[in-house]
Amino acid sequence: PGTERPQGRVVDDEEGGVLFLSGSHHSSSSSRYGYASIDKQRQRLPVFKYRTAILYLVETRATTIIVGETGSGKTTQIPQYLKEAGWAAGGRLIACTQPRRLAVQAVASRVAEEMGVKLGEEVGYTIRFEDVTKPDVTVLKFLTDGVLLREMMDDPLLTKYRNCELDVKVPGRAFEHELEKLRHVIMLDEAHERSISTDILLGLLKKIQRRRPELRLIISSATIEAKSMSDFFRMRKKRREPENEEHGLQVEPVILSVEGRGFNVQINYSEEPVQDYVQAAVSTVLLIHEREPAGDVLVFLTGQDDIDASVQLLNDEVQTTGKHSSGLIVLPLYSGLSRAEQELVFSQAPRGKRKVIISTNIAETSLTLEGIVYVVDSGFSKQRFYNPISDIENLVVAPISRASARQRAGRAGRVRPGKCYRLYTEEYFLNHMSNEGIPEIQRSSMVSCVIQLKALGIDNILGFDWPASPSTEAMIRALEILYSLRVLDDDAKLTSPTGFQVAEIPLDPMVSKMIIASSQLGCSEEIITIAAVLSVQSIWISGRGIQKESDEAKLRFAAAEGDHVTFLNVYKGFHQSGKSSQWCHKNYVNYHAMRKVLEVREQLKRIAKRIGLVLKSCESDMQVVRKAVTAGFFANACHLEEYSHNGMYKTLRGSQEVYIHPSSVLFRVNPKWVIYNSLVSTDRQYMRNVITIDPSCLLEAAPHFYQLQQSNHLLR
Ligand code: ADP
Ligand code: MG
Repeated sequence: PGTERPQGRVVDDEEGGVLFLSGSHHSSSSSRYGYASIDKQRQRLPVFKYRTAILYLVETRATTIIVGETGSGKTTQIPQYLKEAGWAAGGRLIACTQPRRLAVQAVASRVAEEMGVKLGEEVGYTIRFEDVTKPDVTVLKFLTDGVLLREMMDDPLLTKYRNCELDVKVPGRAFEHELEKLRHVIMLDEAHERSISTDILLGLLKKIQRRRPELRLIISSATIEAKSMSDFFRMRKKRREPENEEHGLQVEPVILSVEGRGFNVQINYSEEPVQDYVQAAVSTVLLIHEREPAGDVLVFLTGQDDIDASVQLLNDEVQTTGKHSSGLIVLPLYSGLSRAEQELVFSQAPRGKRKVIISTNIAETSLTLEGIVYVVDSGFSKQRFYNPISDIENLVVAPISRASARQRAGRAGRVRPGKCYRLYTEEYFLNHMSNEGIPEIQRSSMVSCVIQLKALGIDNILGFDWPASPSTEAMIRALEILYSLRVLDDDAKLTSPTGFQVAEIPLDPMVSKMIIASSQLGCSEEIITIAAVLSVQSIWISGRGIQKESDEAKLRFAAAEGDHVTFLNVYKGFHQSGKSSQWCHKNYVNYHAMRKVLEVREQLKRIAKRIGLVLKSCESDMQVVRKAVTAGFFANACHLEEYSHNGMYKTLRGSQEVYIHPSSVLFRVNPKWVIYNSLVSTDRQYMRNVITIDPSCLLEAAPHFYQLQQSNHLLR
């Protein structure tokens, strides 16, 4: 009834077309009609007009920068154009990176759909611990920027940058061959996001390009920050290599701007500052539903917690009042959703229904959602912040930039004129929001980054050609931590074997160090399980209304030592149940997460074997498990404040106030000495995943670190 579906949108299946559901409708089942409509749809995208131009530029330029509004077809089309033009011929692979895992999966399945192939065959994807590609079959590979960075560590072309002693690993020939093929065209997508891995890749690729002109780079971005990107890639005149120009290759980068066709978006601001943006978002959605004509709503909140809360509030509303909210379909969108949940988000709402998608900033530019006419912008997102003085890295809810606010509003004008409701005042937007965001590299711990660059043989990290330089303090901190983990030696070179082994494990260096220590301590089976659990979001089922039951269930597994040992108990129970989903259900354990744990565990075991670690179980000796955890995480040691009655701890290194997170089995137990795995900051700094320790183990694990600490000579 009066639903204005956008033109160019694929027709409903009752009209004989295909639904844009990813994954299930593949070549054999798609009708010929379906193909035609996909082709037409592809041709209507703004980027299509630039197809020839793009292909010409990629042919003749080392670096092509493509700017185009979100939804213009950069991500889904350009890799296909390249393939059609033969860039994937001869067994080569076209790579396209994304900063976010969920975007990698969603885009890959969309492209597979458009090409009428099964995901994982011609079109595949790789994210950490999940490789959905097929050797010799996959020609378009979507991957996270982090994975590409890891793959580069084994790239033979980088050997010349490497440390001469580096020869711990000799990857199979086939593997090297694969990677060598990967180098032909690389598209770094979503460059405006300035994720830490994208920035590192930009620096590395620029360096490689000098030696390998046949390597073509496409950098795509949703904003015009492209100018600085192009300046970054401009080679200094004397650096030009004459033989490249003889081959007709231009080394100077070029910017191509894809003219979009966005519609006007009317902006509405709050009159007063908003106290509770979750509540405000919910009321705004209900108001839109009541007063505005058909069209889907996209709400930007910050993370799983507030998204789940608002989904719940809206659904409660649907159930209780009914009147205002019938016809609403409310869906969350954040990373960690199951495949089925993701598909719902992209599918079309049934006629007469209004879809409301409540999302993190993944829908800001990484994913295109069809049919959005109304945007509700909370003005916040979760951002990483790092304090090099306290060495604390946090994901915090922080105000977005004006550039982000504009992007968010733009999502309402894709299909017809739309409206954006900003849950902040105009005065705030104009006078208090920063113009641009800060690149992630300037607000992150540099520990992982330093180790990766070291493994690539880049020794002078401060002198590295960064698109944006990280802070010296963060760099010094990282060197100090890596030194205390014995990953770097006195000359700041990777130690052998520990440093090289740590670099090989695709986890935080502290976790990697814990795994390596466990091999020496004889508890690697247990520690690998713990590492696998720590790499998934949460193994518990939580949610409003079941808190009590799930807390009780947790108690059944709770170990006095803390969360890490509790995880081992859960894993054991799961294993003994025959990996049963019913068992998980009964115990408020997330079955999905446990399957993932099994997968990650297998991969970690494979890596451990490859780098020569000993796989062994310590049976029930939890003392050694605690020792191994301490060997990796000694820097996160805290002690309970003696006179504190509210469970306040202080970190040993920076005397920061921290508390045990309510999800921990040690919540309210408050042992004297603990080590935490990570911090989350809300009203306070909470330690997640906590284990008790013996302070003497600290000195044993890191005498140097704690001696320095005591004599206050931390920052040299
Ligand atoms: P860009 O990368 O320039 O932001 P995309 O290539 O992601 O644009 O999207 C181009 C178009 O493809 C969108 O406008 C949308 O119509 C369509 N599209 C992309 N992903 C999906 C999906 N998962 N389901 C349905 N349509 C999609
Ligand atoms: Mg895109």
